[in-house]
Amino acid sequence: MNIAFDIDDTLCNNTVITNYLKKKGFDPYKVLTNFHIKNLKISQEHKNNIIDLFSSSHMVKLKPNPNAQYVIEKILSFKGNEVYVITARDNDMKAGTNKMVKKYFPGIKPKNINYTNGKSKASLLRKLNIDYFVEDNIEAVLELAPMFPKITFFVLSYEETPHNHETIAQMQPLPNVQIIYDLKEMLL
Ligand SMILES: [Mg+2]
Repeated sequence: MNIAFDIDDTLCNNTVITNYLKKKGFDPYKVLTNFHIKNLKISQEHKNNIIDLFSSSHMVKLKPNPNAQYVIEKILSFKGNEVYVITARDNDMKAGTNKMVKKYFPGIKPKNINYTNGKSKASLLRKLNIDYFVEDNIEAVLELAPMFPKITFFVLSYEETPHNHETIAQMQPLPNVQIIYDLKEMLL
């Protein structure tokens, strides 16, 4: 089986960034998932702070989400399973991101880490022949799930907000989508 994971708020915990954005009055969900920081109508100082939080030096300090290491090790302990990373992070975060993945998820091959530079993950899901995809970005799943009926999408929802409550309801009719609240649930 080919199993792919998103990084931010899926494999790794971005609470530091989320809390900063909340403190500054932004919807962290929108900022983090769209990666449109440069286009945000905010002061240059805030942009710089956010960009700094997204810099490689900060990214290597991000800690894994609860059970992420356990789940990756468990999946890789079964013969025939391959784990991929598909992240919307930019190429300029590549060095730091690869280092961080190597540190916390040594079982994941560096060649299996893929960067979309903010673009859709659709072409990689097709190219890598993915069977399961774990992602926290609800909008992305709403777009991708109908395009790939053979892929099972696990949506990791770590926090109840009015924003995701509404979109979670939209996902319920999609037969290939499962909402999980802990990565361990995907092993059931
Ligand atoms: Mg994410």
